[in-house]
Amino acid sequence: MCTDVTLLMTGATDLDGRHVDVRVDGGVVAEVAPAGSLAPRPDEEVHDLTGHHLLPAPAEPHAHLDKALTSHRAPNATGDLAGAIVAIRQIADAFTHEDLVDRATRAAYEYLANGTTAIRTHADVGAHSGTRHARALVEVREALAGLVDVQVVALASAPWGPGEAEENARLLEEAVDLGVDLVGGAPHMWPDRVAGFEMSFEVARRRGLPLDLHTDETLDPTAQGLLHLAQRVRATGFAHGATASHCVSLGVHPLEVARATAAEVAAAGVGVVALPQTNLYLQGRDAPVATPRGLTAVRTLLEAGATVGAGGDNLRDPFNPMGRADATEAASLLVTAGHLSTREAWDAVSAGARRCMGLPVPAVAVGSVAEFLAVEAESLDAAVAGAGTARVVVSRGRVVASSRVQRVYPGAGVSQS
Ligand SMILES: [Zn+2]
Repeated sequence: MCTDVTLLMTGATDLDGRHVDVRVDGGVVAEVAPAGSLAPRPDEEVHDLTGHHLLPAPAEPHAHLDKALTSHRAPNATGDLAGAIVAIRQIADAFTHEDLVDRATRAAYEYLANGTTAIRTHADVGAHSGTRHARALVEVREALAGLVDVQVVALASAPWGPGEAEENARLLEEAVDLGVDLVGGAPHMWPDRVAGFEMSFEVARRRGLPLDLHTDETLDPTAQGLLHLAQRVRATGFAHGATASHCVSLGVHPLEVARATAAEVAAAGVGVVALPQTNLYLQGRDAPVATPRGLTAVRTLLEAGATVGAGGDNLRDPFNPMGRADATEAASLLVTAGHLSTREAWDAVSAGARRCMGLPVPAVAVGSVAEFLAVEAESLDAAVAGAGTARVVVSRGRVVASSRVQRVYPGAGVSQS
């Protein structure tokens, strides 16, 4: 969507260290020039971004807005994935439509304030909750249209009892009829992983929707769901777009096995979404020493030329009691735990995430979509490391959120803002 707003951002530093003025017109970048060279036009909105890094705005490629902000209602007793599922099931019956909409909306605004202008959220669909979550998140998507791009994935639950697989398949179709954007699932949670994969894959294929599967969210080194997905995409010519989220087991495969899988993933055009915070929290609980990192093999995937996105996943719910709806958090973890450079980490939460979501990638370049996050920081390291920094968020060519920070040190007689 384009707007009539003309915006001039002056004195910003881009990812390449250039000091630039940027004019945005009609939702796209119209001019980029050395700092100080673009004069404001009459009635133009002007933002002085001296001292700010102007970054391609992040996107959240994997959220669960239906579960967000519930950790205080249902603590995860064991801290692992099974404990999280037990905890969420204890409280999900009490999720009213209004509660779902309220929490999802509040979470979306948190993301937006921190610079995330697009969110892909999963919505539980299955015998336990029917299609209530999908219905609520589709409503949130419509309510936020024009402010935050929300994509809703119908997350088909694994069967918990006899007959549930058939019921879940029926409910998945019902969710598609409600207008979700993608088909999802979690085949690694099924007793028969191939059957779990095929249920979601066939619905996506038949209904012509992209696929985003929770894949290999386990440190089980025998899990090969990612390879299976890539092979099925290539064998069938599935052309609607496919994303594999988590892919934790890839991180514990022998290097030559991981490289072979990564090559297949790149060839299939399957995007992989790393979710460091939730998987560092959930995985490895049974290894009290030399605890493995619950992370997919980000370096191996990048070296193979695969699309790698990263996100925050759960937000203060039983799957992850932490989280601040801030892409700098996931990027920071990719630097610390995933050993990416800061630039690679920011690419993963912005360009990589947007490619996984089928969205255009912003750049400080004429013709680019105007989706930016300006962070007051002296370096990219400082921008990514610094939670609580002053920010300006630009989406569709207009400022949609901004935040300021004021620190006071009374004893020193110092105030910073
Ligand atoms: Zn998830």
